[in-house]
Amino acid sequence: MDREYSVPVKGLKSGMHYYNFSVGNSFFDNFENSIVHKAAIEIDTALEKSESWIKIVSRFHGNVTVDCDRCLDELIMPVETEASLLVRLVREEGEENDAIEIVSIDPSETVLDLSQFFYDYITLSLPVHMVHEEGLCDPEMILRLKTAEGEHSPSDNVSPFFKLNELLNL
Ligand SMILES: [Zn+2]
Repeated sequence: MDREYSVPVKGLKSGMHYYNFSVGNSFFDNFENSIVHKAAIEIDTALEKSESWIKIVSRFHGNVTVDCDRCLDELIMPVETEASLLVRLVREEGEENDAIEIVSIDPSETVLDLSQFFYDYITLSLPVHMVHEEGLCDPEMILRLKTAEGEHSPSDNVSPFFKLNELLNL
C-alpha cells in the first residue's frame, strides 16, 4: 500500500474530486524488472464518486528514462497518455468483465492505492522498440556491438543474446 499514490474512499462525498500526483525516480524502484529507470511525470487525476462506483481518469504528462534498444545508453521517452479506471464498490467479489478495466473494493476500505494503475499505464504507453534518433546512439557502444557481432566471440558479454545464440547453436 503506497499512501503517496492513494485516494480516499471511505467518507468521500459523491461527486467530482481532483488530485495531482508526481511520479519521480523512486516510484519505479518498487516495481521489479521495470524497464523505466528514471521518471518525471505529472498525473492529473479526476475522480467521480457515486454510491456504488468510483470512476478515475488520469492524464499523464512527462518523460521516462529507459535503455536504448540499439546502444543500451540512456534514452528519454515522452509520456503523454490518458487512462481510466472503474472501481466498483461491492461487499463481495463480483463477476469478471474483460472489456473494461474494473477493480472491486469493499466500500469500507479507507483508501484506494493507484500505484499499480499508474505503473501499468505509463509502461503501456511506451513503444515496444525504443532507440535514439538516427546518429544519437553512443558511437563507442555501437562499434563494440558491431565488432562483437562480427567475431561471434563466446566470451563477449555485451548482449545477452550472444549467450542465447550459443545455446541455440548447440
Ligand atoms: Zn541509442
